[in-house]
Amino acid sequence: MVETSKSAFVTGWPVTHSRSPLIHGHWLKAHKLDGDYVKHGVPPEDLNALFNAVRQGHWLGGNVTLPHKEAAFTLVDELHGTAKRLGAVNTVWHQDGRLHGTNTDGAGFLANLDERSAGWDSDEKRGRGALVLGAGGAAQAIVVALQDRRFAPVFIANRTVEKAQKLAAEFGPPCRALSLQEATSAAINVAFIVNTTSVGMDGQSSPISVEGFAQDCLVNDIIYTPLETPLLAAARKRGLPVVDGLGMLLHQAVPGFERWFGVRPTVTEELRTLILRDLGVVA
Ligand code: NAP
Repeated sequence: MVETSKSAFVTGWPVTHSRSPLIHGHWLKAHKLDGDYVKHGVPPEDLNALFNAVRQGHWLGGNVTLPHKEAAFTLVDELHGTAKRLGAVNTVWHQDGRLHGTNTDGAGFLANLDERSAGWDSDEKRGRGALVLGAGGAAQAIVVALQDRRFAPVFIANRTVEKAQKLAAEFGPPCRALSLQEATSAAINVAFIVNTTSVGMDGQSSPISVEGFAQDCLVNDIIYTPLETPLLAAARKRGLPVVDGLGMLLHQAVPGFERWFGVRPTVTEELRTLILRDLGVVA
């Protein structure tokens, strides 16, 4: 019986590939806590019933993944952090009989860069702006995070340019929409470029050529399988600083764990190695 008030979950439909149980299980063990974190997939029509169970304290709360993030936004009683601006919730918990929700993707993205590339957001770099490749769910959280760090301009380049235009209109200045072709000229000046498209997961393709990037441009890919995507490999070969996407996955889990279990966990090399082992990246 896992549905006790000591349990948290990750829900989606399906949730077969989630690595969240491994991450939270590691922290529960590290902090010797009496609790558990399980996969609890539900179809869309059962999400409301699961959330009612959280309100009633049958669960501590949980993570919400595809395809439930937008539905979760409409079902929670209280929105926190960037969830309101994003229209998507990935973390829920209960308090005083009410269901609370937030979105931790942007915080995870920023914490990864702060940890692995200190100074990446200096005043000089913010002023040169950032380029976001892609305009899907992850891109939205990242665009908002970059705006909050006062990067300007924030270029959003997407294969389907209309989606980039929609995001730029929604989030307003300093966002500017581009096609992927136009991104090449924007890349000349910016101090930070992040790939949020799924291009590179095959280990073969890159969404953009690194040839024109500024010599000190930090390149980040949020894909973490493979850990070194073709974009990162090309950037590294050119001598540019790079940050991979695994830390975003690990850091976005921190606020939820703290809410449910009352301890703020840390992202350690030991945790990183555990996940890399699970991904088959290290032996
Ligand atoms: P999504 O909402 O489905 O968006 C996918 C994006 O990829 C869209 O911009 C799409 O462009 C673009 N795209 C797909 N195929 C393309 C192609 N052949 N050429 C050019 N662009 C293409 O997905 P998402 O949830 O934002 O996730 C995107 C990636 O980020 C995934 O690989 C996911 O695993 C990763 N991710 C990582 C983390 C982390 O913690 N590290 C967190 C979230 C997501 P169109 O609009 O033109 O289709």
